[in-house]
Amino acid sequence: MKRFVYADNAATTKISEPVLQAMLPYLREEYGNASSIYALGRRAGQAIKDARETVAKAFNAQPDEIFFTSGGSEADNWAIKGVAHAMAQKGKKHLITTVFEHHAVLHTCQALEKEGFEVTYLPVDPMGLVHVDQVAQAIRPDTALVSIMYANNEIGTIQPISQIGALCREMGVLFHTDAVQAVGNVDIDVKEQNIDLLSMSAHKIHGPKGTGVLYCRRGLRFPNLIDGGGQERGRRAGTENVAGIVGLAKAVELACSDVARHTAHLVPLRDQLIAGILQIPRTRLNGDPIQRLAGNANLSIEGVEGESLLLMLDLAGVCASSGSACTSGSLDPSHVLLAIGLTHEVAHGSLRLSLSDETTQEDVDYILQVLPGIVERLRAMSPLWEKICQEAN
Ligand SMILES: *Cc1c(COP(=O)(O)O)cnc(C)c1O
Repeated sequence: MKRFVYADNAATTKISEPVLQAMLPYLREEYGNASSIYALGRRAGQAIKDARETVAKAFNAQPDEIFFTSGGSEADNWAIKGVAHAMAQKGKKHLITTVFEHHAVLHTCQALEKEGFEVTYLPVDPMGLVHVDQVAQAIRPDTALVSIMYANNEIGTIQPISQIGALCREMGVLFHTDAVQAVGNVDIDVKEQNIDLLSMSAHKIHGPKGTGVLYCRRGLRFPNLIDGGGQERGRRAGTENVAGIVGLAKAVELACSDVARHTAHLVPLRDQLIAGILQIPRTRLNGDPIQRLAGNANLSIEGVEGESLLLMLDLAGVCASSGSACTSGSLDPSHVLLAIGLTHEVAHGSLRLSLSDETTQEDVDYILQVLPGIVERLRAMSPLWEKICQEAN
């Protein structure tokens, strides 16, 4: 029987019921502007204050180190552009990142290169891991910032963030991490892990879209990205998205309080999915099998074209992704899959299934029931598959 299976939680997640319930009053009767002096405004202000404390606690930060933004992309832009511009004043115009960051980081770095900054893009190994000694070797006296993502959105690899943080602190270089995919999957402690700046987003953890956080260690000063009113202690202008902020805090609280249960639920489902797909001939797992997000399965299936696979899965009721959602619509293969050494052909036939707490055993069974037949049908029509078979003989 046909089911609907949402397996694209790395692209976005369904808002959870407790998050929605926490938000609703601020979309209805509690509509005050948090800057207003009367009680209606003060209640909105109090809700933001409470949200800031909740988020700070989840990452072992102080409330005054938490800044609400319009999402992960804004937090990444602000951290990297802000620090780059501040450090340029001190003659430091070199940045270090990796080749397989999210575009919010990569395109920001490219924009800075056009302004005259120099960027080192570190390679990742075939499993998608960054090596700490390579970070060490890349640091120079004029390095302003190291920005390395906590967990990759496409292949799910989790980086050795504590070691990179310790290294950067020792070398006196600021360290930013895009933790959008990591929140709720790993325990994050910005103090212990020596993280100076951290980006996160609500809609990847069952919160609302259009809201995120930049954690910025106390005492770090850099230019604003958005100028205007005095919101966020003068550092990020714009009337606060009160309902969004309240929803984000609820989502963070729920995601971070249950990391162990989340992992225990998802790892067996993920591993069944991976093992089941690997039963299909000429498939491979992308990313590290162990240092991996609990809900991420990314596989290459030779002789199929990713976009066709997604359309066929959609007809069967399964939402999935091939590479990252941001690059679909263009035929360039994913920069992440190329970074781990896949050929264009193999990268094109990749499938990302990303699970959430709502994913069930029946969902996994259903995917494994429909996928082999779809692959077989696509391969039967594929000149590429014919070529692969001839070469194998
Ligand atoms: C989704 C995502 C972002 C962007 O966050 P938005 O809130 O959608 O702007 C940035 N980095 C990573 C790793 C992501 O997965």
